[in-house]
Amino acid sequence: MDFNDTPEEAEFRQSVRTFLKEELPERFKGVGYPFTGRGDMRSRFEEMKEWREKLAVKGWIAAAWPKEYGGAGLSTMQQFIMNEEMAENRAPQVGGMGVSMIGPTLIIHGDDEQKEEHLARILTGEVQWCQGFSEPGSGSDLASLQTKAVRDGDDYVINGQKIWTSGAQYAHWMFMLARTDSEAPKHKGISYFMLDMKSPGVTVKPLINMAGNAMFNEVFFDNVRVPAKNLVGEENRGWYIGTTTLDFERSSIGSAVGQRLQVENLIRFATEHRNDGQSTLDDNPTLRYELSERLMEALVAKMLSYRVVTMQAKGLVPNYEASMTKLFSSELSQRIARTGVKMAGLYGQLLDDSEWAPKRGRFAASYVQTIASTIAGGTSEVQRGIIATRGLGLPKN
Ligand SMILES: Cc1cc2nc3c(=O)[nH]c(=O)nc-3n(C[C@H](O)[C@H](O)[C@H](O)COP(=O)(O)OP(=O)(O)OC[C@H]3O[C@@H](n4cnc5c(N)ncnc54)[C@H](O)[C@@H]3O)c2cc1C
Repeated sequence: MDFNDTPEEAEFRQSVRTFLKEELPERFKGVGYPFTGRGDMRSRFEEMKEWREKLAVKGWIAAAWPKEYGGAGLSTMQQFIMNEEMAENRAPQVGGMGVSMIGPTLIIHGDDEQKEEHLARILTGEVQWCQGFSEPGSGSDLASLQTKAVRDGDDYVINGQKIWTSGAQYAHWMFMLARTDSEAPKHKGISYFMLDMKSPGVTVKPLINMAGNAMFNEVFFDNVRVPAKNLVGEENRGWYIGTTTLDFERSSIGSAVGQRLQVENLIRFATEHRNDGQSTLDDNPTLRYELSERLMEALVAKMLSYRVVTMQAKGLVPNYEASMTKLFSSELSQRIARTGVKMAGLYGQLLDDSEWAPKRGRFAASYVQTIASTIAGGTSEVQRGIIATRGLGLPKN
């Protein structure tokens, strides 16, 4: 990869920097949006309104979407630059699953009526979406899912259960996979639906995670009727529709930059925090080594991101390379959190409900919240399996 911007890329980078300097609301500058996992996603939406409207003018809520649907049609490299600059400034993201998942799926597989009904409302943010894929017995092996959809006149009738559905308690709509043919091979009997969460027969039960937050949910379907017009693409082709990606930049550059900033914050804390006149670092060479190691690892994460985006810019599809990035980045987030808690000592274990918690409980919160990162979006074991077989050419068993 050429690490230098071309003249066009440099010009685009400058335009993003100018935009951020002039338009990013002051309260977010350098601090981002304080995510605690608590509180209502709808109140977050209200807080983001002004920022969302500014992004919308540029088509940057969904920068990868074609212009005709309200996006900016940015190239992969432009998206990479934009994501990098946004992360450097800790600019909050506003798109959610509507922009990254159901929107692209509708652009490619939806009919005109579906696009008309949903795309604009994803961009304005008035409709929030959740993803109903995982089930109690089907996560890594998603194609074994058992929730059934049976055609009945102009509707499908859905029965079954989803689990770990992030944000379902606030979402207005769900995009989901359900089995429409139990006789077919497992990947070939699944269909993709859009379901109005207010439909009779839908029950949402929040699950409390180890951080004490109701982030995800169980969702039950008891004879829920979904109009056939909400089937996306053809019946029984849902598995292939569910893997739609559009030309999204998928390097995770945002999290690599975020991790570097996080380590820099830890270093600042360790330097400024004094105990009997000594900084935490003065008498602690082990901590100094550990922080240096975290910083180097954050830079490695950035290099892995560069590798992925370089492939995408050349029209290649990252395969085990994307698994390497996901695995390294998610495990690094846990190592950074552990270093933070260790550095802050016993007080580092306090959450924000204690007045003694340093940095308003951020160390402990990050420690418990990052546990999920090696499970969500494909577990570390599954990523290692992909790297072993597709990357290293090792046998499957
Ligand atoms: C924070 C969070 C948010 C989530 N949000 C959503 C959401 O919004 N919508 C949604 O549909 N899902 C969501 N999920 C679910 C997520 O996709 C699944 O948890 C994930 O796919 C793993 O599936 P599972 O939990 O069923 O674990 P399982 O697949 O049952 O895995 C159990 C264990 O077996 C290991 N294992 C499984 N298969 C293999 C294999 N082939 N080789 C080696 N080891 C293996 C796993 O690594 C794991 O350790 C979320 C999960 C988390 C943690």
